[in-house]
Amino acid sequence: MADVIAAIATGKQPCAIGILRLSGDGAAEVCSKVFKLQSGQPLTEAPNRKLVMGELYDEQGRVIDQALAVYTRAPHTYTGEDTVELQCHGSPAVLAAGLTSLFHAGARQAGPGEFTRRAFLNGQMDLTQAEAVIDLIDAETADAAANAAGQVGGVLLKKLDPIYNQLTDIMSHFHAVLDYPDEDIDPFSMNTYENILRTAAIDLDKLLQSYNRGRVLKHGIRAVIVGKPNVGKSSLLNALAGYDRVIVTDVPGTTRDTVEETVRVGRHLLRLLDTAGIRDTDDKIEQMGVERAQAAVKDADLVILVCDGSKPLTEEDERAIDAAHDGVRAIALINKADLGCVVQTSDFFFEYVVPICAKTGEGLEQFEAALDMMYDDELPCDGSILTNARQAGAVLRALRALETANQAMKMGHTPDAVLCDVENAMEAIGEVTGRTVREDIVSRIFERFCVGK
Ligand code: GDP
Repeated sequence: MADVIAAIATGKQPCAIGILRLSGDGAAEVCSKVFKLQSGQPLTEAPNRKLVMGELYDEQGRVIDQALAVYTRAPHTYTGEDTVELQCHGSPAVLAAGLTSLFHAGARQAGPGEFTRRAFLNGQMDLTQAEAVIDLIDAETADAAANAAGQVGGVLLKKLDPIYNQLTDIMSHFHAVLDYPDEDIDPFSMNTYENILRTAAIDLDKLLQSYNRGRVLKHGIRAVIVGKPNVGKSSLLNALAGYDRVIVTDVPGTTRDTVEETVRVGRHLLRLLDTAGIRDTDDKIEQMGVERAQAAVKDADLVILVCDGSKPLTEEDERAIDAAHDGVRAIALINKADLGCVVQTSDFFFEYVVPICAKTGEGLEQFEAALDMMYDDELPCDGSILTNARQAGAVLRALRALETANQAMKMGHTPDAVLCDVENAMEAIGEVTGRTVREDIVSRIFERFCVGK
């Protein structure tokens, strides 16, 4: 028996509509104590999946709100249990009063992610789908949302399940031959399965490779802005953020430490780090900032070099350019285009060199176009991109186990030795889909969800 849980499923701000959600055995019975249909019919007899109108009462019998309810009967629901959703007016006070009333009627507060956890435990979705739900809620770009939506639809599961099933076939064939020697079963030979194991390793490797893109998709591009003082780094950050995030002055060394801001540039999410200008300085605090800037370059996915194109390049510019080349990927922005340009784009050995004016925002469209080209990989955001570190770790373990199995096979090891690694690979895949995941890990996963989901 699943007890009846209830939660506010919508946000904390006042808005047009707010939703109260219940799930569990007897959800409609609990709700019917405080929600009376306009038709006079009890909620428990309301048609399945149809909106019905009624009034929501508090424990003293006062009307809290006029609301719409939809009663969906198990098992074809999100959680696999009876569920009721009440569409109220979206006042936080109304929703809080409604929730309290549901508690008096017998429901209890749902924990974080408890609806989705129940969906997982009741077999309505596997773990890749459940984890994608949280990604979908947290998605900060359309691409991230599209990938998460694909995974909610089971794209990742469809990639992993066939591999798991093929490995199961190998294991079961081996054990069948071993346990039932008198039966007429084809003799077991590891060589028959060589191709399957090799292909499985290739598929897992492909999936793992997608994680680089997935990390950027989920968390954004870690981009660090470098350049000597006064070239317009802070102005660029402000222009991209759309407001004055950083103080801009013509006094060199104003930005003494790193400043972080998340900005959206077209379809890209940049986790921007504006750094202290890279230069020689006696100021201890500024020096620490310079060191941090140099360290940030090493961790960044993208280095954005800014220089003042209206003046000839100096030694300090060259140092910043060298620092930028230490990064994985870099782009050069030649700022202050409004003051005329005395530097040549050919002075920069960068994949992309874009003239801009941070003051007016001119050239930022070309910057966006350059990002489009830099991050235009062939991977479609359809759910086939791995975005989750836990999943990537497990896929890596599965891959390593299969590689070891392939190696052992080549060296002529006995089937039971090879199959030990195959079993490890299955276990690791099972951790991604949820077949073999430990209870404490499941709890940890759902704790990251919001209440009401
Ligand atoms: P930072 O030290 O590299 O962060 O440079 P700031 O963003 O603080 O800018 C230094 C000075 O350059 C300020 O006076 C800005 O107003 C000015 N500045 C920044 N971008 C532009 C630009 O595109 N055109 C012009 N004319 N001045 C700019």
